[in-house]
Amino acid sequence: MTSELSKIWLSSPHMGGQEQEFVNKAFEENWIAPLGPNVNGFESDLQEYIGQNKEVSVLSSGTAAIHLALVQLGVTAGDEVICQSFTFCGSANPVMYQGATPIFVDSEPTTWNICPKALEKAITDRIFKSKKPKAIIAVHLYGMPYLIDEVHEVASKYDIPIIEDAAESLGSTYKSKSCGTFGDFAALSFNGNKIITTSGGGALVSKDKASKDKTVFYSTQARDQAPHYQHSEIGFNYRMSNISAGIGRGQMLVLDKHIALRRVMHQFYKTIFSEIDGVEVLTEPSDDYFSNHWLSAITVDPKQTNGINREQVRLHLETYNIESRPLWKPMHLQPVFEKYPFYGSNVAETLFENGLCLPSGSNLTDDDRDRIKSAILEVFKK
Ligand SMILES: *Cc1c(COP(=O)(O)O)cnc(C)c1O
Repeated sequence: MTSELSKIWLSSPHMGGQEQEFVNKAFEENWIAPLGPNVNGFESDLQEYIGQNKEVSVLSSGTAAIHLALVQLGVTAGDEVICQSFTFCGSANPVMYQGATPIFVDSEPTTWNICPKALEKAITDRIFKSKKPKAIIAVHLYGMPYLIDEVHEVASKYDIPIIEDAAESLGSTYKSKSCGTFGDFAALSFNGNKIITTSGGGALVSKDKASKDKTVFYSTQARDQAPHYQHSEIGFNYRMSNISAGIGRGQMLVLDKHIALRRVMHQFYKTIFSEIDGVEVLTEPSDDYFSNHWLSAITVDPKQTNGINREQVRLHLETYNIESRPLWKPMHLQPVFEKYPFYGSNVAETLFENGLCLPSGSNLTDDDRDRIKSAILEVFKK
């Protein structure tokens, strides 16, 4: 029976319809390159959308964006960079690309993002034991803005730049300002599972035109001004193609609609779980916060659910061909990162143990929701 049910995905690409027109135009005009009108158009769409006079450069991935932020902040071998531990590896890997040392910091339980207290502890301890960290990578996980005022207060006290990892939070706001406009730099992602996709891609948000020009320079192999190919610095091949950017332009037309639909999914889960003890849905702590609810995520406390844990929920949904996934496994618990310093307690670890992401796509149907709801009610009835 199970095999006959179509798969309900956690988050799948959702095209609005006009993407192909932008892509076709690129073919008609033969702009099949990492430059062209869609690249410039997508960048100005994004700039207008996030506001605050930011400059946006579109790149091949969100990971590349974080990497180029580190390059521009002068992070090199031997430096230390603070990174939220509870995140996807794309936040932390670029620190390693630069030969620097990641210093991982725990989350706080309200937004699940970097804990300002643990952050300050990490900074003072690193200054005491080694040196001042060169940058802080703070993440708006699952679309939820981190404790922006508190985290930025600590960062400015020690004069350390912040790279916002806004890969999951395009369209989220804090006190009506867009995520991606608070830090010295911010990374966006348009990977296939994100709130909008270009099939694969990302962007770096920076403060001014000079920094944007630098990003473009580094992302196109650091070519000096000369008729021949001349290089005084090491560059990267990280620029977004005009084809991908065409998909992005089409996706910008439906972004707000998709956010509204993701928020419907969040409300759907809030309603279901309001009746079930021991399950919490990640929700904005106050009206200052607006999450795009890229993924709806829950924590399951087996002590309050007659022993039902998140893994039982996941496996039960799987029998109905419904995809769900544990929350990100913290970086300080990953084999590849476990030897690096970690500051905090067990907040991220507990979230990983008890947390689950549920189907959240903007393209889910009423039938999908019915199937998800009855599967959830069934597992908690046992
Ligand atoms: C997706 C993601 C990235 C990386 O983006 P890519 O475009 O896949 O390289 C970085 N950080 C977080 C939190 C992400 O979810």
